[in-house]
Amino acid sequence: MREEYIKKAVEQFEVLLREQLDRVDRMRAGAAPKDYDALETVTVGLIGGDGIGPIIMAEAKRLLEKLLAEEISSGRIVLTEIEGLTIENRLALGKAVPDDVLAAIKACDVILKGPTTTPKGGTMESANVTLRRELDLYANVRPVSVPEEGIDWMFYRENTEGEYVLGSRGIEAPGDLAMDFKVTTEPGTRRIARAAFEYAKANGKTNVAIVTKANIMKKTDGNFTRICHEVAADYPEITADDWYIDIMTANLVNPAIRNQFQVFVLPNLYGDIITDEAAEIQGGVGTAGSANMGDRYAMFEAIHGSAPRMVEEGLADYANPSSIFKAAEMLLRHIGFIDKADRLASALHQAGEIEKRVVVTGTKEGATCREFAEYVMEKLA
Ligand code: NAD
Repeated sequence: MREEYIKKAVEQFEVLLREQLDRVDRMRAGAAPKDYDALETVTVGLIGGDGIGPIIMAEAKRLLEKLLAEEISSGRIVLTEIEGLTIENRLALGKAVPDDVLAAIKACDVILKGPTTTPKGGTMESANVTLRRELDLYANVRPVSVPEEGIDWMFYRENTEGEYVLGSRGIEAPGDLAMDFKVTTEPGTRRIARAAFEYAKANGKTNVAIVTKANIMKKTDGNFTRICHEVAADYPEITADDWYIDIMTANLVNPAIRNQFQVFVLPNLYGDIITDEAAEIQGGVGTAGSANMGDRYAMFEAIHGSAPRMVEEGLADYANPSSIFKAAEMLLRHIGFIDKADRLASALHQAGEIEKRVVVTGTKEGATCREFAEYVMEKLA
């Protein structure tokens, strides 16, 4: 029996290795970044998702319709709703992202997406992991700011590799052991490092923190660190420091030093975890937006998930839409509508941090999602 498992695992490993090396070749071939200014029409796909997703997305749609009213009526912007990325439909079809949904997404230029549920266990991949791979959305960009503490962080999380790329394709000898794989590629790391340093350069930042566990994961994280430093050499005005993820996790809850950090570049899993911690410091996951960027597509979403517990407890209508509004702001900035993004950022800041006349708490004591959204829209100058 044991020999059988080993033989099967070795065969499977060869398949994975070949697939990943093919992916390296595709990355090296590259794609020219999309020029949104050159597009006659920018098509924005809106996806409701699961749980609290459709509730916060309904408000995001109303907000975009208000902000982009002129562009929508002139045909410069098209908002299109994409149905079918629901857990019920995905389970019924046995597909993380059904084919017709993927085709509809690929027909858009940018996507604003509500959170999607991922079943625990089983073999169904997360819709996000599938979309990040299919659309090659290699940079997960997550800003966190706490102005009164001087915190202005930007996280560049690698989004297509690490523990996630083969997360549902591990090897098991039932009753004996299970093994998952972590993948770091040369071009995959180079492009996320480049994105982080380019952001730092364009925004006058002077330091990038490279965060790994390279003392333990010597091959994958070791190479990630090395490649980041090679890229850093092209940016002499920016310092690059190595940190281990464990101490960086502690640093973020240390008020004495945390405002010194500026830009972070991290492999996938560490980035996933530490950005939730960072969002909590900002005021909770309900306040944080996130962008998944590639050269051809970009997908914007809330940092949090579908919050099934809130739904079960009858609190879905009390979800905070700030997270998806922040994502909408990032989307507007990405497609070149800087003044609209600034208006939205200012309205959110006024409503959520300065005036606080209507406050969402995620409980029945607070305002509803709709009430807070109305408040933000009223603040749009
Ligand atoms: P979660 O982020 O969905 O919710 C955790 C808790 O955070 C909630 O119970 C709630 O108290 C709070 N919260 C989240 N969003 C909020 C909001 N807008 N307003 C107020 N409070 C909010 O985390 P989870 O329960 O671990 O995950 C639920 C599901 O979501 C899982 O299936 C997971 O795989 C999926 N998920 C999806 C995405 C995505 O689509 N991008 C991201 C993370 C998790």
